[in-house]
Amino acid sequence: MYPFQYQRATTPEQAVAAVAKVSGAAFVAGGTSQLDLMKEDVLRPSLLVDVSPLPLKTISAFEGGLRLGAGVSNTAAAIHPEVQARYPAVSEALLAGASTQIRNMASMGGNPLQRTRCPYFRDPAQPCNKREPGTGCAALKGLNRVHAIFGASTACVATHPSDLAVALAALDAQVQVTGPGGTRTIAFPDLHRLPGDTPQQDTTLVPGELITSIDLPSFTGRSHYLKVRERASYAFALVSCAVALEMDGKKIRRARVALGGVAHKPWRVPAAEALLAGKKPSEKLFRAATEVAFADAKPLEHNAYKLTMGRNLMLRALLETSGLQPLQGPAGTAFAASVGGVGGE
Ligand SMILES: Cc1cc2nc3c(=O)[nH]c(=O)nc-3n(C[C@H](O)[C@H](O)[C@H](O)COP(=O)(O)OP(=O)(O)OC[C@H]3O[C@@H](n4cnc5c(N)ncnc54)[C@H](O)[C@@H]3O)c2cc1C
Ligand code: SF4
Repeated sequence: MYPFQYQRATTPEQAVAAVAKVSGAAFVAGGTSQLDLMKEDVLRPSLLVDVSPLPLKTISAFEGGLRLGAGVSNTAAAIHPEVQARYPAVSEALLAGASTQIRNMASMGGNPLQRTRCPYFRDPAQPCNKREPGTGCAALKGLNRVHAIFGASTACVATHPSDLAVALAALDAQVQVTGPGGTRTIAFPDLHRLPGDTPQQDTTLVPGELITSIDLPSFTGRSHYLKVRERASYAFALVSCAVALEMDGKKIRRARVALGGVAHKPWRVPAAEALLAGKKPSEKLFRAATEVAFADAKPLEHNAYKLTMGRNLMLRALLETSGLQPLQGPAGTAFAASVGGVGGE
C-alpha cells in the first residue's frame, strides 16, 4: 500500500473542506470498500478523511418518511423496525449483501458509493478505463459474464454492485449532500451515471461532496427485493430486482421497478412501469412487463443468460410484491430476499 495521510473529521464542513482542498483526497467511512481497493493498489488517495466520527448516525422521521444518516451502519438500518415495516425492500437488500461483520462496519453513505466488482478493475495488471482512463477495457472482449446488458459503452461495461442502491432507486429515495458549493438534494436515480466515455466517474457528485443522509419518502405501498447470486450467501448479485407497488383498490396505481447487476447504475424500467400502471395484477400482465423491461437489453458474449434470469426474477418479484405469490420468508428479512445461488451457468 502507498503512504497516505489520514485525518478524522468532527463536522461535515470540516470533512468537506479537507477533501476539497487536497487533490486526490477521499472520504472513508466503514472502509470496507475504500481500504480493500487501496490494499489491492487500485486506489491511491493522497489523504483519507475519516467521516465515521461525524454526528450522522441517527434514523429519524422526515417529511412523512425516514431520514437515514449517512453514518448509520447497514446493520442498524436493516433491522430498524420502521425500515423493516415501511420499506421492506431496503432491509431485504441490505440483508442480502455482504456478511454480518461487513454490514456492521458499512455505512449508508459508503454503500451506494462502493466501486464496481469488475475483476479487471481490481487487477492493476489489466487495462481498465475506469481505473486508468485511456488504457482500454479488458472486459469488452474478455470474460464479461458478470457485466452489463444495459447502458454500457465501448469504454466500460461494468455493473454497479450495491444491493441497497437498487432498492433506493425503486423507492425514489433522495440523497442529501453538502459540498464546497453548499448543500443540495439529488434524486437517487440521478446519483449514479452511465459510463459513456468517462467511466472513471461513477456518480454525479463533485469532488468534496459529502452524503449526509439518504431520505426515504413517505410510502404506503408494498416493496420487495430479490437477488440471484452464485452462492446463496456472501456473493454479489448476478441480477437483482426491487419493486415498489402502490395500489388503488384492486388496481396498481403506481409501479416502480429497478434492476441490479445489469448496468453501471440501478436500472429503472419506465416503459414496464407505465405498462403496469392502472391495471389489475396478474401473471399475464407481469410477464408482459418483463418482456418490455428487457426489450432493449444488449448482452455481451458471455452474459446473455442475464436476460432469462432477469425476466424470471422480475416476474417473481412482481408476483411476490403484489401478493399473487407468497413471500419465501417474513417481509423485511433476509429470508424474503434470497432466491438461493445458481452455482454456475
Ligand atoms: C467481501 C465483501 C462482500 C460484499 N458483498 C456485498 C454485497 O453482496 N452487496 C453489496 O451491496 N455490497 C457488498 N459489499 C460491499 C459493502 O457493502 C461496501 O463495501 C460497503 O457498504 C461500503 O460502505 P463503507 O462505509 O465501508 O464505505 P467506504 O469503504 O468507507 O467508502 C466507500 C466509498 O464511499 C465514499 N464515501 C463513504 N462515505 C461517504 C459519504 N458520507 N459521502 C461521500 N462519500 C462517501 C468513500 O470515499 C469511498 O469512495 C461487500 C464487501 C466485501 C468486502
Ligand atoms: S468494464 Fe469498466 S471496470 Fe471493467 S475493465 Fe472495462 S473499463 Fe474497467
